[in-house]
Amino acid sequence: MDLSQIGEFELIERIKRKAGSPRPSIIMGIGDDSAAIVPSPQCISLVTQDLLIEGIHFNLSYFTGYNLGKKALSVNLSDIAAMGGIPKYFLASLAIPKHLSIHFIDEFYQGMMDLAGVFDVSLIGGDTSSCRKELFINITVIGEVPREQLILRNGARPGDYIFVTGSLGDSCMGLKILQDSSFQDDRNKYNYIIERHLSPWPRIREGRFLAERRLASAMIDISDGLLSDLRHICVESGVGATLWLEKIPLSEEYREYFFSHAKSSDHELKEWDPALTGGEDYELIFTVPPQKWPIVEEFIRTGMLNAAKIGEINEAKERIRVILEGDREITFQEEGYRHF
Ligand code: ADP
Ligand code: MG
Repeated sequence: MDLSQIGEFELIERIKRKAGSPRPSIIMGIGDDSAAIVPSPQCISLVTQDLLIEGIHFNLSYFTGYNLGKKALSVNLSDIAAMGGIPKYFLASLAIPKHLSIHFIDEFYQGMMDLAGVFDVSLIGGDTSSCRKELFINITVIGEVPREQLILRNGARPGDYIFVTGSLGDSCMGLKILQDSSFQDDRNKYNYIIERHLSPWPRIREGRFLAERRLASAMIDISDGLLSDLRHICVESGVGATLWLEKIPLSEEYREYFFSHAKSSDHELKEWDPALTGGEDYELIFTVPPQKWPIVEEFIRTGMLNAAKIGEINEAKERIRVILEGDREITFQEEGYRHF
């Protein structure tokens, strides 16, 4: 069944049914000219938006509607996580090419709503249009954070340590495997990194953990790549950084890939490229002042926080040095994904 058989209003009705019953702070959700919500006392609002376009951000040859819906919301939740915030509401606008089936759209909303359920965020509106060719998805998330817990990009100071959650480079490697037909037969060896591309997990829990304890001086999520996103912290904070290459956390499958496939002879550091410059990991980079880093190390040691110390902030304005084995400095061609 295609969309012309049900029309815009029936589609919005279907979406409204999927959104479920509104929470008490929603005076009006889907169904009026605007949503109306009651702000929480003592909190400031966080508002973020991301655009996802078929052919640029994703490809329907390897994304199901379900995964795409989940990822579209996930990347927006990640921006709330990076502020130390709690996501509360979201709006989703779609421009849908006429050939897409209702089944696909239903699955898309199912993926979004399943993730929304995990983080207790409510769908309160959006907009719907048809379009000629590519699917456009635009999601807005509204979140909140107690004012004193807000974590910006501009608070890093010389002497702070740099940490990162999870592991890096998986999403970029997962995408490479999805796009490369020579991997068709042994794709299941790389399920984990493929999943990291198709279904990244927003680090809301980790962001809140740091915010509630006021452990981080600056934070950002990795959408474009470690070097490129760390640079934003450096620029906004007026500082520089040194990264210790061997400390960058890599997953088992990432290591396995490079062990069996990388032609590391053509460039001795190829195996580090995705971890340093590959985007879409949606992990958090955060900096910690020296007096607080023993606390953070203890949380890491006891498994309460999944993160690794990867470098330090210094005074070398906006310069990022990557060093290997003591102090051999490495340079990378590109820092991360650029649209223009
Ligand atoms: P308007 O013409 O005032 O923009 P719409 O018919 O576009 O009204 O929207 C009616 C209601 O349905 C609004 O509450 C809007 O937020 C909601 N809505 C429209 N499209 C979507 C969508 N894709 N997802 C969620 N809510 C939607
Ligand atoms: Mg509208």
